[in-house]
Amino acid sequence: MDSEEFRQRGREMVDYIIEYMETLGERRVTPSIEPGYLRELIPKNAPNKGEKWKEIMSDVETKIMPGVAHWQHPRFHAYFPSGNSFPSILGDMLSDGIGAIGFSWAASPACTELETIVLDWLGQMIGLPQEFLSFSDGNSKGGGVMQSSASECVLVSLLAARAQKIKELKVVHPFTEDGVLLSKLVAYCSREAHSCVEKAAMIAFTKLRILEADEDLSLRGATLAKAIEEDRALGLVPFFVSATLGTTSCVSFDNLAEIGPVAKEAGAWLHVDAAYAGNAFICPEFKYLMEGIEYATSFNTNPNKWLLTNFDCSTMWVKDRFKLTQAMVVDPLYLQHSHSDKAIDYRHWGIPLSRRFRALKLWFVIRNYGVEGLQNYIRQHCRLAKRFELLVKADERFEVCNNVRMGLVCFRVKGEDQLNRKLLSKINASGKLHMVPACIHGRFVIRFCVCAQDAKDSDIEYAWKVISDFATELLDDESV
Ligand code: PLP
Repeated sequence: MDSEEFRQRGREMVDYIIEYMETLGERRVTPSIEPGYLRELIPKNAPNKGEKWKEIMSDVETKIMPGVAHWQHPRFHAYFPSGNSFPSILGDMLSDGIGAIGFSWAASPACTELETIVLDWLGQMIGLPQEFLSFSDGNSKGGGVMQSSASECVLVSLLAARAQKIKELKVVHPFTEDGVLLSKLVAYCSREAHSCVEKAAMIAFTKLRILEADEDLSLRGATLAKAIEEDRALGLVPFFVSATLGTTSCVSFDNLAEIGPVAKEAGAWLHVDAAYAGNAFICPEFKYLMEGIEYATSFNTNPNKWLLTNFDCSTMWVKDRFKLTQAMVVDPLYLQHSHSDKAIDYRHWGIPLSRRFRALKLWFVIRNYGVEGLQNYIRQHCRLAKRFELLVKADERFEVCNNVRMGLVCFRVKGEDQLNRKLLSKINASGKLHMVPACIHGRFVIRFCVCAQDAKDSDIEYAWKVISDFATELLDDESV
């Protein structure tokens, strides 16, 4: 493909994307195919000679689209939103065009510097304490970085905490093997934490104690304190606590103000995972949910969930970047440069060496929407969730199962789990709506998340009509 053809195909692709977005609502929200469907449609071997673009694109509509779950569909209410917007797509497009790999400042200075600045912007918008910002004063040790997922933010924090604690223990036990010290380390999270915490502990080969949350599905300080006391009595060493603001199943909030002092007293690294809900902290009315954030050692949120920015864009801040990088630094000659002492080298802040110019898309989004535009978007989702909650509450057959503070409503038909399982599977099979389940207090609930970037009241009304019609049909069948 030469430049002239790219110009034409690029324009066609923009048209295709716009057409896709504008007509999305006419498609089934999830595909109706079986595993392996694509094997039958695509040749077993790669083509020897290049093919015409038109043939390739025509296969997109006939072969690929039938297998796509449309996350941007107005009837998609599963998981959490998958961030998307035109300025973000343009940012990714430009990043791909530039094609730079910004692993160090020298490898592409703008990649690094824009990332640091945009993370400072977002950190201020969220209201993170000054120590998390890189410019807070001339000697700031803090700063932000983009990772590809919240799971990676949690893993990297846990690895840094592990390295930090082993270093501290080595001072007291200089002749003890690292492996022996490692066997004493214990991390903590609530049962409501995302499974990525368990995965991180598994990868890092550390113990993880999963604690019970309270009635509101919030991890409390006393629960953590008791667990730490018990573990210390067994000779274990607490090194990491992962608290969640906005849990995956029901957007509940751990009590940071209580957990913070306990983690501090125990000398443990406190990571705060706010993958979804952290984005809402750009609105002043939600900041109360961050009370206790001053105790955090690190914090993450995903603009690629709820800030109109395409995957991947997971933002993470630390108060002391040297504690993070001590666990990651390897420094071969071919990666060194003459500004290492003054500049940030993001290769030391995470696992991969190579990194895309992800800051561009977040910069475009923040500038194009402005803080107010982004706040309006978050508020619209929260308002619509409240609207949906009212509809559920007005129907005596149903109950709401979470404290609806953001864009997620968990609900169920009063009765057996089996009934709710059936209801959800019938709705999903219809292709009219898509939702996923969760388990709250041991019961099966249905999660309804406001996801579409321009979600409207009419989408909520439509969704409720589909749900209540299916419930009527199911309850009628059950009563026969
Ligand atoms: N943490 C929380 C609270 C989440 O809700 C999720 C995903 O929904 C994750 C972590 C994992 O996110 P990622 O897919 O970016 O690793």
